Amino acid sequence: MRATVMFGAFDVRVEDVPDAGLVEPTDALVRVTHACICGSDLWPYKTMERTEGGHRMGHEAVGVVEETGADVRTLKAGDVVVMPFAFSDGTCEFCRRGLQTSCPHGGFFGISSELGAQAEAVRVPLADGTLVALPVGSDDASIPSLLTLSDVMGTGHHGALAARVGPGRTVAVVGDGAVGLCGVIAARRLGAEQIIIMGRHADRTALAKEFGATDVVTERGDGAVERVRELTGGFGVHSVLECVGLEESMATAIRIARPGGAVGRVGVPQEETLPASEEAFYDNITIAGGAAPARAHVEELMADVLGGRIEPGRVFDRTMPLEDVAEGYRAMNDRESIKVMIQV
Ligand SMILES: [Zn+2]
Repeated sequence: MRATVMFGAFDVRVEDVPDAGLVEPTDALVRVTHACICGSDLWPYKTMERTEGGHRMGHEAVGVVEETGADVRTLKAGDVVVMPFAFSDGTCEFCRRGLQTSCPHGGFFGISSELGAQAEAVRVPLADGTLVALPVGSDDASIPSLLTLSDVMGTGHHGALAARVGPGRTVAVVGDGAVGLCGVIAARRLGAEQIIIMGRHADRTALAKEFGATDVVTERGDGAVERVRELTGGFGVHSVLECVGLEESMATAIRIARPGGAVGRVGVPQEETLPASEEAFYDNITIAGGAAPARAHVEELMADVLGGRIEPGRVFDRTMPLEDVAEGYRAMNDRESIKVMIQV
């Protein structure tokens, strides 16, 4: 089968690889119909050391179940499914509490394993716990939005929950990538009164406004902090979604939270230490969030997608065939595209 393999920085190709197939009785084999490229795929794209065998890529997919192992109970061949970026058993203490990314039997698709979704097919471990059957066909108009439940929409929602977004609260979203844009959708959905998007790409902040952002802040650093305080009566926002993961963006997130506010971080941290720690201490800022258990939020968000209340699939501004995946990485890395959908 054809699959995306990254061999080193700026070297990603579609190659012939052995066909995916069932290994464990709890596996499902999924024929991928739609995958996508993630902002997090761009870190290895820029920095990966060259390896002989390469790494399989992709952790977001919608597809059709081809075959199920003997122990799979809830899925059958022909089901259209969405695949969250982590697999999980659905039964352990952490899965039952909605923290599937900490499942002791779980793991991640994409670079850390041989299970890549930017491919014609993918083996899905622990299929009963991991996959969610969709009540629509794989050619339905809602598929791009349902595909975002694999990662970016679930991650934005997780950030909003961690930042304690709710009715009447003021919110800032740091980062105008696909996760930040989905964070705006999530904040609006949870009833936020004011939503400030912080970013400097005009096309992205324009989309954020369509998603419900009330204000745009293009400044960075001290200028950004000053501007957010001006927009919020001098004290900053109740809730901040940190959707970048860099030291500067985290420091800004902490400094624009009002005393007693909360930062929900969903940008993968690129530093070991947390900046602005003293300010966070004296202002009693709650810092929460982490790897998003996308699986926990699929059903709730799916209802809003199918009900036409949210349309996170609008973050996809380009669609490409699998064979053009390298061009997709380039376009996202050069900021020509917010997020690329791959039609397989
Ligand atoms: Zn579990």
